[in-house]
Amino acid sequence: MKVAIIGGGASALMCASFCTSDVTIFSNEEKLGKKILLTGNGRCNLTNVHYNNFSYNTNIDSYLQKFDHKNTLDFFNKIGLLTYVDEMGRVYPISNTATSVVDVFVNYLGTKKVEVINTQVQKIEKLDDGFLVNETYHFDKVVIATGSTANLLDNLNIKYNKFFPSLVALKTKQNTKRLSGLRLSNVIVKSKGYSEYGEVLFKDSGLSGICIFNLSSLLAREHNYQSILSIDLLPKYSKEELEEILTKRLKNNYKNMKTFMQGIFHREINKYLLNICKINEEEKPCKNNIQKLVKNIKSLEFDIVGTYDNNQVNNGGVSLQDLTSDLEYKGIKGLYFIGEVCDVDGLCGGYNLQWAWTSGKIVGEKLCLK
Ligand SMILES: Cc1cc2nc3c(=O)[nH]c(=O)nc-3n(C[C@H](O)[C@H](O)[C@H](O)COP(=O)(O)OP(=O)(O)OC[C@H]3O[C@@H](n4cnc5c(N)ncnc54)[C@H](O)[C@@H]3O)c2cc1C
Repeated sequence: MKVAIIGGGASALMCASFCTSDVTIFSNEEKLGKKILLTGNGRCNLTNVHYNNFSYNTNIDSYLQKFDHKNTLDFFNKIGLLTYVDEMGRVYPISNTATSVVDVFVNYLGTKKVEVINTQVQKIEKLDDGFLVNETYHFDKVVIATGSTANLLDNLNIKYNKFFPSLVALKTKQNTKRLSGLRLSNVIVKSKGYSEYGEVLFKDSGLSGICIFNLSSLLAREHNYQSILSIDLLPKYSKEELEEILTKRLKNNYKNMKTFMQGIFHREINKYLLNICKINEEEKPCKNNIQKLVKNIKSLEFDIVGTYDNNQVNNGGVSLQDLTSDLEYKGIKGLYFIGEVCDVDGLCGGYNLQWAWTSGKIVGEKLCLK
């Protein structure tokens, strides 16, 4: 049996690793696994040992039962990759470099019958006895592993949900230029009933950081980013406790509100907060100011107006409902979908690559010669 895999990313490499048929990978990038090199800040967070109902936009339990993080670790171990798990359950190569992941894959595929054609696939035609790729190459089965790109889906008349950026920094109506580059640790970010704990990084006119990325993933599931986002800057204190702490500070007889705020947050955050509260830095500290401060420290609000460009993944793609349990398209026999082109996206932490591994393995194994 001759199998074409379109795309040379994570899911394609996994699929080819498990497929014992005659495999040809069509990749429009010179080197296989180029995007893997970018993952996890160049370290490749390849999976996560924790998982819950919120980890993905859709339920993929039945697929993970066939190949989950434990199977992923066994597989990588088998092909020569040593890994470690950090305190958040994220798994990385011991080498702390994504090149190790691509290297072991390329070595492993070198031991198998896999041909690589470096070209952009423009057209796939369904024939009675298989598929014709780029009007030249004949295959019995085709696996689409093209990530969040729509051209081949349109070409094949495939039904799919519109792609929508996810795991992405959020743009705010508020100008945060003076805060740009500052980090807030151990904060709680809330929007539309979702809540994330962790770190926020300010940009010129927006917010970034893992916490914001995860919130963006949850908002992307509704295909609407317009919302009010609030940050609890000091979640370890209740409103009452914070009011008590700040009221006690009044006794220190600070010269003005600027000195009153020193020692609480970074000086630019202090300035931003005072500005939002419409409190002049030169004012004498008083009870009324404390109430305004408590309100904004516990819920500093931003209007989300959109996203930055560099999203890590997309929500949208071919719905699992239109695929069989082996990820074959219900409308076209012999056509399979794996990885991000499916409407499966996860939070930060290794979940997206896990889906690439899981879906790649399921289809690779399905397309083995008996
Ligand atoms: C900066 C960044 C960091 C990330 N970090 C992590 C992380 O640490 N952990 C995690 O789990 N996930 C991470 N992700 C997400 C993860 O990289 C993706 O979920 C995963 O790579 C998807 O794999 P895939 O095989 O579906 O698609 P891709 O990796 O996108 O591969 C698709 C390939 O197909 C090629 N292609 C497309 N169309 C054609 C065509 N017509 N003909 C030929 N080739 C074609 C593309 O050029 C590409 O090479 C990150 C993403 C980014 C951008």
